[in-house]
Amino acid sequence: MTLKGTKVYGSVLQKCPKCHEGDLFTTNNPYNFSKLFDMPEKCPECGQKFLLEPGFYYGSMYVSYGISIAYLVSVYVAMTVLYPSFNVTEYLVLGVGSLFVLTPYFFKLSRAVWINMFVAYDKKASAEHKTGKAASGDHSLKN
Ligand SMILES: [Zn+2]
Repeated sequence: MTLKGTKVYGSVLQKCPKCHEGDLFTTNNPYNFSKLFDMPEKCPECGQKFLLEPGFYYGSMYVSYGISIAYLVSVYVAMTVLYPSFNVTEYLVLGVGSLFVLTPYFFKLSRAVWINMFVAYDKKASAEHKTGKAASGDHSLKN
């Protein structure tokens, strides 16, 4: 089974939403803080623009918020199952502490999820770009 072509694949692996080949970020290491915000202007594989409009990624903050809440709920559920006698302090230390450590990853993930909400996967995008058939700078905004 392959997940290529799904929103999950493009988001989790932080690939170009259109071709799922090119990397969305300059570095895949979320703890390389000097390059945390660095994204190529366009996908090197298919030419998809990564900044659809000025300030495009402000909206990803809502995704980031949702991911953080979902994560904290997951930690709570996991602790309830694995360690039912936990107290509030232990939950806060483990939940918020690990969330803090994961924040750079969630930051990139939320950007990847966000652009995947607007750009549809096109399995021919990479090949068409390489043969020069696709119009340059074309980005397929849904809706
Ligand atoms: Zn691409």
